[in-house]
Amino acid sequence: MKKYNIPVFIPHNGCPNDCVFCNQKKITGVQTEVTPSDAAHIIDKYLNFLPKDNRYIEIAFFGGSFTGLSLELQEEFLKTAYKYRDQTDGIRMSTRPDYINDDVLSLASKYNVRTIELGLQSSNDNVLIKNNRGHRFADTVAAAKLIKAYDIDLGLQMMIGMYGSSPEIDLKTAYDTAALSPKCVRIYPTLTLSGTKLEEYYKSDKYVPYDLNTAISVTDKVMRVFEEQNIEIIRVGLHSDESLTSGSIVAGPYHPAFRELVLCRRQRDKIERDIIERNMHDCVYTLNVPRQKESEVIGHKRCNARYFKEKYNIDLKTTPDFF
Ligand code: SF4
Repeated sequence: MKKYNIPVFIPHNGCPNDCVFCNQKKITGVQTEVTPSDAAHIIDKYLNFLPKDNRYIEIAFFGGSFTGLSLELQEEFLKTAYKYRDQTDGIRMSTRPDYINDDVLSLASKYNVRTIELGLQSSNDNVLIKNNRGHRFADTVAAAKLIKAYDIDLGLQMMIGMYGSSPEIDLKTAYDTAALSPKCVRIYPTLTLSGTKLEEYYKSDKYVPYDLNTAISVTDKVMRVFEEQNIEIIRVGLHSDESLTSGSIVAGPYHPAFRELVLCRRQRDKIERDIIERNMHDCVYTLNVPRQKESEVIGHKRCNARYFKEKYNIDLKTTPDFF
């Protein structure tokens, strides 16, 4: 069965905070306020083109901090989504750890909210303070516990390369995140967006973003933490989106196929270890791999094949493994 989200982006609605990296209107690609009736139009539109059978659909309130809206407005949105309960399988939402309490969870349960995703971003309180997050890791721990007590699935979102963070802190965040046993996680590399405080820090050399290589290697380690504990990684990197690619990114390790780059790097490292161990060069290196892994081995736009040619004069080839 294929899973689909119907994304209803609620940009910055309900969020009085100003995290240094956030330009929420840019991230969601939506620049106007969204009303419950807009939400109904969006849901109708998606239901028209999604497959009718063998599907699992959740209406997803993303973008801002949904539970930071007034309870009345939350209920209007939830009621709107709930009207589609015969055609969908539930509702999910993203919010902040410090906006979780019994009132919002009772409301969420009443309207069949299946998953709540918390943007924890880092488990290091100094990093949270530096980024003006306005909450501490203890808030995430408490919110995670409460969400589970309401029998709602927990999703957690973390960032790598935040202002004040480091590869070690990012890895520790991954372990702390996994220790909360979420059902799923998202991993976002920090990008410097125009119009943010982070842009000022970047331009005054107070903040040095990860380069793409560092971001790939840190994300690889972070992903392994979740994989080892069978926690589903539902997203790595931001969606490629018009408003992100047309000038709003000032700096940072953005790549439209970021997750693929991480997976390709894993293959490259594995092959390179073998090549070094066997002292190989000036030859052909052939690997038997399942067809769906071939592009990971050869690399995004053949980056691994080029790497081995240039560094070892080795021609990297794959043959399909049918078993
Ligand atoms: S809490 Fe979320 S929406 Fe609000 S400023 Fe921070 S990142 Fe942006």
